Amino acid sequence: MTYQDILDACGLTAAETTGGTLSVTTPVDGSEIARAPMHSVADAEAAIATGVRAFEAWRKVPAPRRGELVRLLGEELRREKENLGRLVTLECGKIYQEGLGEVQEMIDICDFAVGLSRQLYGLTIASERPGHSMRETWHPIGICGIITAFNFPAAPWCWNAALALVCGDPVIAKPSEKTPLTQLAIQKICDRAVAAFGDDAPKGLIQTLIGERDLGEVLTASRDVALISATGSVPMGKAVAADMSKRLGKTILELGGNNAMIVAPSADLEMAVRAIVFSAVGTAGQRCTSLRRLIVHEDVYDQLVPRLAKVYEGLAIGNPLEAGTLVGPLIDAGALSAMDKALEQARAEGGTVHGGGRALTDQFPDAAYVSPAIVEMPAQSDVVHTETFAPILYAMKYSDLDEAIALQNAVPQGLSSCIFSTDVRETEYFLSAQGSDCGIANVNIGPSGAEIGGAFGGEKETGGGRESGSDAWRAYMRRQTSTVNFSRELPLAQGISFEI
Ligand code: NAD
Repeated sequence: MTYQDILDACGLTAAETTGGTLSVTTPVDGSEIARAPMHSVADAEAAIATGVRAFEAWRKVPAPRRGELVRLLGEELRREKENLGRLVTLECGKIYQEGLGEVQEMIDICDFAVGLSRQLYGLTIASERPGHSMRETWHPIGICGIITAFNFPAAPWCWNAALALVCGDPVIAKPSEKTPLTQLAIQKICDRAVAAFGDDAPKGLIQTLIGERDLGEVLTASRDVALISATGSVPMGKAVAADMSKRLGKTILELGGNNAMIVAPSADLEMAVRAIVFSAVGTAGQRCTSLRRLIVHEDVYDQLVPRLAKVYEGLAIGNPLEAGTLVGPLIDAGALSAMDKALEQARAEGGTVHGGGRALTDQFPDAAYVSPAIVEMPAQSDVVHTETFAPILYAMKYSDLDEAIALQNAVPQGLSSCIFSTDVRETEYFLSAQGSDCGIANVNIGPSGAEIGGAFGGEKETGGGRESGSDAWRAYMRRQTSTVNFSRELPLAQGISFEI
């Protein structure tokens, strides 16, 4: 299949891929695959105005009926899984299996949201006053602005949109300027689901804005956008949080991670090796949940790290569209130089680097392929505290579990973490209040590759937001507490006497 075939299969038109000013390159070989037209600030403001009208209509549609739209969206996604998965791969460079995985996550969250549309439960609460009842109800909140990152151009939009739609909220997407085509293709899939749904889906229920951060800033500045869910780097999250705090708007922030694995003496090392390699080199180390720090007990360090280094030497690095490839390219030259700089700093801080050079320069001179690196560090120095969005795995030794957990928790980010151990005392301690401080803590599983059923997100500089499963839906609704007096008296709460 040519690149044009991949764009055509997703229904992208010449008007969407040529003649614009946003140059879209594929990391597969660095060539330009589209010049997409960008929306203006005025377009973004108009989209918000349309979204306001859509909200007035959509909030009146019963939630189970809203679920029907998401069911149709899931059906369309099932049909388009291969086409969209291939476009994800072409645009952001993750291997095709992972591209398919992103679309499967979209399907999974649609299924979840359909069930949820009949389970947006409130509470009844015992009132302290006689002849009174009290209840808590959840209502739609308004437009949800969904700002997303280049490395997951499909799934995070859907984690947010599927929930927001059943909760009664219109959605406006602002994808990364590096990967706009996937969102354009998703918008087409949504348009088909809306058309199949019927007239009670208002115009402008699901919209997409193509452009740079200035469009994101229009969303964060507008009081008509009730909720901003932003996925991206910590600096972006800090800027969004500052803008939103000016109007005290609600946010879900899903920011960078610096995820660790503790490998205990009792670990099944065979399993650990497989988990380490998938989570450290998958998506070429460009997942928010990528494994970046390996904290290995001194008794097993010399068995594990050389074994890993050997597996790394045989990794299939190559074109992510081709079967058999395990490691695709970095997104661009900027990512390549960030990786080089981090490795240079690691060496200066006493690290021993295995791997880490450029790869496939003859075949793809304009792309950014690298050999994943393992860096043995004498300590958790400055460079290890930073999220470098590339396949660099820092390995360190520990001698007791408290020391390992202290190291794991000592970084500013708090997204994902895990322990490999067959000792239940250790694993339960790791999951306890004295253990991992991350939003995700796994046992005998790597830190990446979450299922949609659980709430996804992290603490500290990761931003504190939760998306996807569990009760994450509540962020997309407003809570209303109502007390109803069905007596003939007017008793005041707390027994206050107020006679007039
Ligand atoms: P980025 O921060 O450069 O951009 C993300 C998005 O934010 C883009 O759409 C961009 O246009 C927009 N943006 C930037 N500044 C903005 C502002 N001031 N106001 C509004 N919008 C703004 O991130 P990236 O390089 O595309 O993605 C990589 C980063 O994303 C990594 O740090 C990674 O860990 C993180 N990430 C986190 C998660 C998560 O769920 N925690 C998931 C994927 C990626």
